[in-house]
Amino acid sequence: MSYRPGSRTRACSVLVIGSGAAGLRAAIAAREAGADVLVIGKRSRLDAHTVLAAGGINAALGTVDPEDSWQQHFADTMREGYYLGDPRIVEIMAREAPAAITELADWGCPFARTSDDRLDQRYFGAHTFRRTCYAGDYTGRAVLTTLADEAQRLGISVIEEQYVSRLLTADGQCFGALAFDLHAGDRTVFEADAVVLCGGGHTRIWRRSSSRRDENYGEGMWLAFQAGARLMDMELVQFHPTGMLLPEEAAGTLVTEAVRGEGGRLYNAKGERFMERYDLERMELSSRDRIALANYTEIKEGRGGPNGGVFLDVTHLGKDAILERLPRMYRQFVEYQMLDIAKEPMEVAPTAHYSMGGIVVDPATHASEVGALYAAGECTAGLHGANRLGGNSLVETLVFGRRAGEAAARFSQERESRLRSRRAIDEAHAELDSLIHNGTELSRALQRQVRNVMWEHCGVVRDASGMERALGMLDEVRTALPSVDVRPSEEGWGDLAHVLDLHAMLSTAEATLRGASARKETRGAHIRSDFPELNPELEVSFVVRRGDDGQLTLEPASLSAVPDELTSWIARAREPDTAGRLLE
Ligand SMILES: Cc1cc2nc3c(=O)[nH]c(=O)nc-3n(C[C@H](O)[C@H](O)[C@H](O)COP(=O)(O)OP(=O)(O)OC[C@H]3O[C@@H](n4cnc5c(N)ncnc54)[C@H](O)[C@@H]3O)c2cc1C
Repeated sequence: MSYRPGSRTRACSVLVIGSGAAGLRAAIAAREAGADVLVIGKRSRLDAHTVLAAGGINAALGTVDPEDSWQQHFADTMREGYYLGDPRIVEIMAREAPAAITELADWGCPFARTSDDRLDQRYFGAHTFRRTCYAGDYTGRAVLTTLADEAQRLGISVIEEQYVSRLLTADGQCFGALAFDLHAGDRTVFEADAVVLCGGGHTRIWRRSSSRRDENYGEGMWLAFQAGARLMDMELVQFHPTGMLLPEEAAGTLVTEAVRGEGGRLYNAKGERFMERYDLERMELSSRDRIALANYTEIKEGRGGPNGGVFLDVTHLGKDAILERLPRMYRQFVEYQMLDIAKEPMEVAPTAHYSMGGIVVDPATHASEVGALYAAGECTAGLHGANRLGGNSLVETLVFGRRAGEAAARFSQERESRLRSRRAIDEAHAELDSLIHNGTELSRALQRQVRNVMWEHCGVVRDASGMERALGMLDEVRTALPSVDVRPSEEGWGDLAHVLDLHAMLSTAEATLRGASARKETRGAHIRSDFPELNPELEVSFVVRRGDDGQLTLEPASLSAVPDELTSWIARAREPDTAGRLLE
């Protein structure tokens, strides 16, 4: 029985995949540069993953702490990334962040203001100065809505509920993508001179994750990987120290860093404010990796609460302050747990939160290694090194979304003629057809297996034997792929999306495990119980390539040097403490 629904073609000069902050900012830039732009995403226009971002977005504006500077922002980012960030990318971000945020405020983004109407800035962990702008704890939604309004003003079409199954390539050049409508199933061949991929991260491949169902399985990274791009630093994944534990369906949901920024304190079940033992100077404003490890250690050593977490307390702030500055957190705990956080502490534990690694891109244009393919946002590598500073990813989406969009528009304008390959389009259709059949396995159950494997063997703390086992377990899941049941239901083509998500998970999980196995050291968010010290010789990135036979190969890549004029700023920033961080 054939299920293949209808197919049509749409052409544009720049195609943007993903309607999160990076995608919309890229689309605006490409449109302003004169391109005919289309944005496609698998969710509705105002519901891309960026809406989850809570606490804030960084720029050295110096409104609250006038001593701040872009150089200090550069230095903080490099150091907290344990020197694995690409200094060229970090410099661009730090230099251009103030203009990116000011522009967004000018477009109407409702950032919090000081009494004299300047943009307010608050502390986020491990920053030298207050440089995080915010809109309550709804910053991501405020940013996304502002960008969507601007895109609409410019007449940019955003096509919703389109799942991209494959990038179309010929002769090493990308010329579009094949997508299907998640409800009707009909397919569209989107043809373009240049494509900007803004598909988000891969943290949903861990059982406890701050991402939502049906997003962040590494789908964007996988699309680029299949097309011939390389992935880098995949093992560098940030585990946020504070995720919800209950109820099970909400496990991992983020308790924003703003809670600690506003004065939240961490306690164990014995009532000890345990950060005194891990970072006496910075306490709860220490870096994410250190607090995640502290929470993990307290729980593992039996000082956790009844649900296997530690306690985060804001009761001393008072209800008025909580409602004003942490409104979403207040609601979140009432809705999920009927808990009034103004009266009782929250029980929290680490959760997979952010992909520091991703697609290898050119620092300035964010061109990938595939012709005519650009990428921006969380699906790319290079900015955050081994530990992302909170608030740096939203600004990354703006700065590099704009750069990628402009570069794609330029590329389109310079192109002599549009590339098209009938064979590539037929192959993409045939690949989708081959997935649609009755079977005995369900994608959701297999996804769950992968998420459990990654949590168990490649979570907050890893070791060689666990990761070896995990690679074997991924192979077992792979053998079940041909038996996955995929057919249309009354709700539409969710099954087809789920099996593609599963393929993406398997590839990004393997790339992560290969990088994590090669990184025989503890550095930033990557913590090895069998290699508890930082190894200076591993100040390299690990890059993964996918061969024509589907096999992955891994190689180290050296990093660029920090420009002379910026090295002294790094010396002035706080040194992250790396030695002996695994407490007994
Ligand atoms: C709970 C939470 C809180 C956060 N808080 C902050 C914060 O306070 N400050 C900060 O700086 N960062 C924060 N972050 C991180 C930040 O939100 C993200 O890094 C950022 O929003 C990523 O934006 P993006 O545009 O790159 O990708 P996304 O917003 O993830 O958008 C990617 C889009 O691509 C679409 N897509 C993917 N694959 C396909 C496909 N195959 N077909 C079609 N569409 C596809 C997805 O549906 C998605 O909408 C937070 C993250 C989480 C999870």
